[in-house]
Amino acid sequence: MTLKSNRSLLDIDRDHLIHPVTSFRAHEARGATLLQSGKGMWLTDMDGNQLLDAFAGLWCVNVGYGQDSIVEAAAAQMRQLPYATGYFHFGCETTVRLAQKLADLSPEGLDHVYFTLGGSDAVDSAIRYIIHYFNAIGRPSKKQFIALDRGYHGSSTTGAGLTALSNFHRLFDLPHAWQHHIPSPYPYRSELTDDAAIIARSVQQLKDKVAELGADNVAAFFCEPIQGSGGVIVPPKGWLKALRDTCTELDILFVADEVITGFGRTGPLFACEEEGVTPDLMTLAKGLTAGYAPMGALLMSDKVYQGIANGAAPELAIGHGFTYSGHPVSAAVGLEVLRLYTEGGILANGRSVGRRFAAGLNAIADHPLVGDTRGRGLLGAIELVADKDSKARLDSALKIPDRLFAQGYKNGVIFRSFPDNIIGLAPALCASDEEMDEIFARIRKTLDDLLEEADIRAAV
Ligand code: PMP
Repeated sequence: MTLKSNRSLLDIDRDHLIHPVTSFRAHEARGATLLQSGKGMWLTDMDGNQLLDAFAGLWCVNVGYGQDSIVEAAAAQMRQLPYATGYFHFGCETTVRLAQKLADLSPEGLDHVYFTLGGSDAVDSAIRYIIHYFNAIGRPSKKQFIALDRGYHGSSTTGAGLTALSNFHRLFDLPHAWQHHIPSPYPYRSELTDDAAIIARSVQQLKDKVAELGADNVAAFFCEPIQGSGGVIVPPKGWLKALRDTCTELDILFVADEVITGFGRTGPLFACEEEGVTPDLMTLAKGLTAGYAPMGALLMSDKVYQGIANGAAPELAIGHGFTYSGHPVSAAVGLEVLRLYTEGGILANGRSVGRRFAAGLNAIADHPLVGDTRGRGLLGAIELVADKDSKARLDSALKIPDRLFAQGYKNGVIFRSFPDNIIGLAPALCASDEEMDEIFARIRKTLDDLLEEADIRAAV
């Protein structure tokens, strides 16, 4: 037997660590890239390479790496009280204060907060509470759920079915029979060029789906205000409000999944704010603790809360909960992160550097490989094509996403490289203008490098 201490970390990783959303075989062949430390916008890997992180980890490290005040808040909470269950009516001040902050900062009417460990269990909790709600108010037929193609709602057994990415369904027996999808608005790939027409079509598609299933059978519609993992699909302004209003009209619940868009990512604290939208439920995670500790949240309107409360048998606890719901250390991190966004000026910085980000996206649109750039705030995408006029995609045999990511890494920039040759960008809100310019300079160099390769040049 091999002595474990004699093996390299990369071998140990191959043998023992299963990576999320990764092909086991591809990982065995390629091995891991181990990151060592981070400061601000910069990461250092185990070989000492310095990298500009244009993706905030996984769209989460919104305040940048190395914020000492967060470390201190977590350590102080661990010293004082590392754990308090929320079961048995227990709790602790830190968690209560964070719930109060979220109720205060979120759209009017979302007053009740259920804490989770991340986004997937926030979505799963939304689904469970919605089922419970309709049973509790005596409308048990409302059990069908609708979401968008290209949507992402996490990786739980329920949420992964609302997610509409093929690798989350394939061989997982998903979606469930009670989960349905309508087309994504995807303006760049829509034959409609008029924003109003794109919005009207989404509204009609939702109405048609509800009519097909029967309004008495439909519980809720879930959507991201901007679709993240589906390739940063930015719907026209007004789309979110129109879909919200349609749900009200159809008497179904509207759930905004703001796991990515929350906490300043698109400019305002929440993307719903921009259109004056109050969802019936809202899911949050990522920016809530900026990746410094795991935490998510489900915000619930009073209507849903009261429906569940009234329906509960007084002697029976409502059977939904996690050991770590409202974990005090994560809550302490969340409180400090929220302080950094507001009093620490990070939201304001994000809005300001967001203008530089938009300028960078605009400027790179002239590159021969770029078909579309899109974004809002500090969330953006660059979509590569073989032909700008026809919008034809580059042949998948060219394996552009892998090559793009590898070349970017070589050039010292980390971004997301999506399957349809879409570069996803979500830099931290603490970036300086100079760092933003550097991100785009490195991306441009990466695209130039790819274009130098004979097979890619021949394809465009
Ligand atoms: N919803 C959305 C919109 C997300 O982007 C994600 C994560 N990328 C999730 C839910 C799931 O969150 P988590 O990975 O924290 O479980």
